[in-house]
Amino acid sequence: MADRSRSYRTRAVILRRRNYSDADRILTVFTPRMGKRMLIAKGSRKTTSRQAGHLELFSHANLQVAQARTWDIITESATLESFLQLRKDLDSISRAAYICELVDAFTAEDDDYEPVWELLLLCLRELDGASDDAERLDLLLRWFELQLLRLMGFQPELFACLGCGDDLQPVENFLQLNAGGVFCPNCGRALRGAEPINPSTLRILRHLSRNQWQSLRGLRIGRTTALAAESVLQRYLVTILERGLNSTDFIYRLRQVPAERAGSGEPATRSAAGRDGRRPLDAANSYSEADR
Ligand SMILES: [Zn+2]
Repeated sequence: MADRSRSYRTRAVILRRRNYSDADRILTVFTPRMGKRMLIAKGSRKTTSRQAGHLELFSHANLQVAQARTWDIITESATLESFLQLRKDLDSISRAAYICELVDAFTAEDDDYEPVWELLLLCLRELDGASDDAERLDLLLRWFELQLLRLMGFQPELFACLGCGDDLQPVENFLQLNAGGVFCPNCGRALRGAEPINPSTLRILRHLSRNQWQSLRGLRIGRTTALAAESVLQRYLVTILERGLNSTDFIYRLRQVPAERAGSGEPATRSAAGRDGRRPLDAANSYSEADR
């Protein structure tokens, strides 16, 4: 049984939060050394709470935490990075929510995930710095997906045929999501559930998987290739996680209303709720709660 007198200090990014009882919140946070944790922020929904401002969604904070029987209790919090620019733009919020949802989905409690921690912070900083460059930020999401898959041991095979082991050539090869990668034409053509993958799609996936973001920031790829790479990775993630992701649905719906958004001239801080009457992304919903 946990000893109430023990406490610890950790850095954390707030991945998710939900209301609990009248005044509290349960936060899902990600830490560099203790993996994912569920913590309770007592009284954080009260207007007088000194903690509330430090526990915003996506924030990078320093926490003092007291161990307890169910959820450990946040006793002190201080913001290290609040990512204010990111919060001004609904597209950036949805991308940040997607990144946080994937980290939440792939990680567990009590493991050391320092490389994933570094990856998460790099992406949040990047989203915070360039909200107007949609093409680059979509590319960032693809790079993030591939790096996260690699770090978690689910890297798709993109270089050698999963059947015969030969190096894949720049021709139309075959992708088999359940098998975890690509087959050469000889091995893949007759394979059940395999689909052709365009050489340019495979090339960009390979390029993203083996390079650091710093060297990719200026990369431009055609929209067709970008969408094809997105489709492959989305379906691969769903295959691995055996479920869909809330935030992808939200991103797709944002894309469907470009005219409305361009015409409104307003910054995207308006609530995401209720545009089409469906339940919006949990994360953006939490973000838009009037709790300040
Ligand atoms: Zn082969």
